[in-house]
Amino acid sequence: MADYDVAIVGGGCIGCSTAKHLAERSELEICLLEKEYHLATHQSGRNSGVLHPGFNYPPGSLKARFSTEGTRRMKAYFDEHDLPLEHTGVLVVATTDREERRLSDLQAQATENGVETEIVTGESAVREYEPHARGQAALYCPEAASVDSQQYVYQLAADAKASGVDFYVGHRVDGIDFDGEHAITTSKGTVTASYLINAAGLHADRIAAEVGVGRGYQIVPFRGEYYELVPGTEDVCQSMIYPTPDPDLPFLGVHYTRRTDGKVIVGPNAVLAFGRESYRNTEVNLRDLAETLSYGGFWKLMASREMASVAWDELNKSYRKQRFVEAARRLVPSVREEDFARSYAGVRAQLLDADGNLIKDPMLTDGPRSLHVLNAVSPGLTSSLPFGDHVAETALEALE
Ligand SMILES: Cc1cc2nc3c(=O)[nH]c(=O)nc-3n(C[C@H](O)[C@H](O)[C@H](O)COP(=O)(O)OP(=O)(O)OC[C@H]3O[C@@H](n4cnc5c(N)ncnc54)[C@H](O)[C@@H]3O)c2cc1C
Repeated sequence: MADYDVAIVGGGCIGCSTAKHLAERSELEICLLEKEYHLATHQSGRNSGVLHPGFNYPPGSLKARFSTEGTRRMKAYFDEHDLPLEHTGVLVVATTDREERRLSDLQAQATENGVETEIVTGESAVREYEPHARGQAALYCPEAASVDSQQYVYQLAADAKASGVDFYVGHRVDGIDFDGEHAITTSKGTVTASYLINAAGLHADRIAAEVGVGRGYQIVPFRGEYYELVPGTEDVCQSMIYPTPDPDLPFLGVHYTRRTDGKVIVGPNAVLAFGRESYRNTEVNLRDLAETLSYGGFWKLMASREMASVAWDELNKSYRKQRFVEAARRLVPSVREEDFARSYAGVRAQLLDADGNLIKDPMLTDGPRSLHVLNAVSPGLTSSLPFGDHVAETALEALE
């Protein structure tokens, strides 16, 4: 095969955004290696498609910066390329006094992050935004939007290709030998590159380990399953209806999202997946499962009583539709079990350290003539333009 200045592993939103930014700013010879025959096959094409404008992230964090900037840049990009985007806004509903108090914290955070929000109080005020939602108060954020993430990734790739990037789909990276430059063994031959960028999503820790990077961390896969409302019942959600997030929990509870095609999806839950690409709750990958179960960090995470109880709850929502519907009914009481049909699922690449801490901020680590996106944590789609830009910039600095 060929010889490149830079090889990027992974054709999701982060890899393609990095390819676009790097190619547009340099004369480097760049290739992108993707193991599947289509781009955005994993996280970047199996998500809620929501632009999260950063009201829920600690001010000053990389996550807050990327998601706030990302939302604005994505909107301009979608506009420029005429890609599907609906300016729905999001309604975060409080159903208890504790949650209502939390809305004020969220609003303060949003203001510090430069994100516009409004708090409404009383059931009838909540219903003015979403007639079928029930809550004693709500925070409305008009900047949130719904997008088609697959079309977005293909547009990024088109931009990158137009700037000279070679795409190799159906090329799985199986091994990397570094000896001043990288000899990258793929399922269809060897590519050499002076510099490597790892944006391999659910497998980023494994690619990093090939060059001795990120040893203190492991990706633990958490599946997010969706139901969709059957035709004729979608009117119960006009935009997006979210529960008030619990700051101690890593994943948001079940929520409603109106997609750009008009479908309303409900979910995702967050259940330990028995494989990094196990999209059904009956699918097991023995290698992946053994790796998770032999990781000390995983057991330290599960040792917390709260996490164990959340894990049990989420498992129940996966195997028992009734439990899922009960969670959904907290926000919209009128929905019935027969209104829900099983839909698709995605698997989140959750990075865990050896002490069992969930890594919540995006993480980029350097290695021998290489950069590794070890954590493109949610909202990674929202963040992908500034994040890819940042990866490209960091790589260019290293190459100089
Ligand atoms: C259920 C769910 C809901 C989400 N909802 C949202 C949301 O509403 N808004 C939001 O902003 N974010 C959301 N996210 C997060 C967002 O989808 C991810 O943060 C983002 O897609 C990560 O992109 P990525 O490019 O790093 O990973 P990926 O999209 O997983 O891309 C990695 C690519 O690397 C390839 N690859 C892996 N190993 C190899 C190898 N050995 N050789 C070659 N190629 C390889 C894979 O095939 C894959 O295509 C959600 C995620 C999930 C799972």
